[in-house]
Amino acid sequence: MAEKRQGTIIKVAGPVVRAKGMGGARMYDVVRVGQQNLIGEIVELHGDTANIQVYEDTVSIGPGEPVVNTGAPLSVELGPGLIESIYDGIQRPLDQLYKAQGEYILRGSQLPGLNREKKWQFNPIIENSSEVTGGQIIGEVQESTLLLHKIMIPANLSGKIDGIKQGEFTVEETVAVVTDKNGNSHDIKLMQKWPVRQGRTVQQRLAPNKLLQTGQRVIDTFFPIAKGGTACVPGPFGTGKTVVQHQLAKWVDADVVVYVGCGERGNEMTDVLTEFPELKDPRSGEPLMRRSVLIANTSDMPVAAREASVYTGITIAEYFRDMGYTVAMMADSTSRWAEAMREISTRLEEMPAEEGYPAYLAARIASFYERAGRVECLGSPKREGALSIIGAVSPPGGDLSDSVVQATLHVVKVFWSLMANLAQQRHFPAIDWLTSYSFYKQYLSESFEDKDKANDMVNLTQQAMELLEQEAQLAEIVRLVGSESIGAKDRMTLETTKSIREDFLHQNAFHKVDTYTSINKQYEILKTIMHFHEKGLSAVTADADTKDIFKLSVREEIARSSYVPEEEIEKIVGIRNTIEEQIETLKVGV
Ligand code: ADP
Repeated sequence: MAEKRQGTIIKVAGPVVRAKGMGGARMYDVVRVGQQNLIGEIVELHGDTANIQVYEDTVSIGPGEPVVNTGAPLSVELGPGLIESIYDGIQRPLDQLYKAQGEYILRGSQLPGLNREKKWQFNPIIENSSEVTGGQIIGEVQESTLLLHKIMIPANLSGKIDGIKQGEFTVEETVAVVTDKNGNSHDIKLMQKWPVRQGRTVQQRLAPNKLLQTGQRVIDTFFPIAKGGTACVPGPFGTGKTVVQHQLAKWVDADVVVYVGCGERGNEMTDVLTEFPELKDPRSGEPLMRRSVLIANTSDMPVAAREASVYTGITIAEYFRDMGYTVAMMADSTSRWAEAMREISTRLEEMPAEEGYPAYLAARIASFYERAGRVECLGSPKREGALSIIGAVSPPGGDLSDSVVQATLHVVKVFWSLMANLAQQRHFPAIDWLTSYSFYKQYLSESFEDKDKANDMVNLTQQAMELLEQEAQLAEIVRLVGSESIGAKDRMTLETTKSIREDFLHQNAFHKVDTYTSINKQYEILKTIMHFHEKGLSAVTADADTKDIFKLSVREEIARSSYVPEEEIEKIVGIRNTIEEQIETLKVGV
């Protein structure tokens, strides 16, 4: 334990407190501020004067009050009990606090992140006297029905196991002892701590190589995100941002979901807090919380806690990644996080850059997203983990030239552009196909075992996207000179793109079948739509009337293909035969 040093407050400016007599303190040390022991963190040091951002309301504290340095950086507790928790930005368990103190958290509250009383069944997976190194998995705890928690040796420790136990333990009880090469013993507990502003150690960083499947057709087929990838989704109000996020949380093929919410308006986080725990994991039927951790900042919580919350979230997410899991972290909205940075920066009297944000805004955003990735985890057994980050941004007025959006777009590899006009037309998910992008498209083919299918899918998506681009141009011509002015082939193109939009890109989150589409089914639907296009074009060449093509009853079958259950996927394949039969009847010129 570091020596505790004491300073004195000389100034209070909103969330920032200045204290003198802080000699020996280090940047990012956590301090206790004032008589009420408010939690703060040193964010600037000049000689023995420190600027401290305080995670709680600083009303009623003032100059002369003491500041005590804990000598430790802002850290999170990692261990069994994280899953199903709802935390604030500095890992205080909100649900417990609500229970203990009512709706308003008392300042200076010290409830720990992990429950100290609860006992967990620990089962070792290694023998006594084994040699172990940092990151090695030594045992397991079945934390929830959906998550097997791996207990790991802390990153910087190695040595020989001198006693390992099986049984029920609290997070603070010793389950094993490691003797290092100097003969010192270290108690291993179910809980470890990690400083939030520092990425957790990994063996090796790897490039993403697989898609993180979401079951959302517009995402997986056209703008996929990789396991270990990064995505940005701007969310103007009413564009279906919440539904998109819930859909991802439900369907993403990740083992763990960490959701960090920074409240927009007062009640918005309350929605998440009440709605999210009610969501069910569709695959197991279990509550989604059994593989989730929520971090919530309502708008009435102090800005500094909001600033810290994304770090708390990402550190928890990295910890699960280190067990060898696929983790998806959602941060909603990072604009609120950036605004917290701006407010603190103003109080620190730093020189503002664009839109009043601090000059380091872009660097902070970049270093946050850089914590995503696929990794080889530290220690044995050899395993890979992946952490994907999906960050929502909410620029004022939906303006994409906003500093936070721009800084985010520089680092993320996927952009899902939610458009208000699509939402108005009830085209959901309102992800615009012309402005969205993904740099992970090359991994789409890896999602198929069958190589031919893989290549076929890549071609199909390219063709479909080309048609959608043509549609935008044709629509302009039609608008100017009317639909009669375009040729039959172009009319066929417009019919196909309508089908791509309505039967493929559009997806009803509230329909039992449509809500999720496997990658195989996505392939079959798209193939069928493009088959109709190809056969339609051949009929046009053979002088068929486009009106007759569009009236074919198979059009209706194509439109319903997304409602065909997964186990009846052959029916979609069958539609392609029907297309051929029906088109054949229209060919008059051959
Ligand atoms: P936001 O969070 O952007 O304000 P919501 O996510 O609450 O918007 O969406 C607004 C409404 O749009 C929802 O209540 C729902 O009716 C509709 N909606 C959004 N996405 C979908 C979808 N994928 N399928 C069907 N309806 C949707």
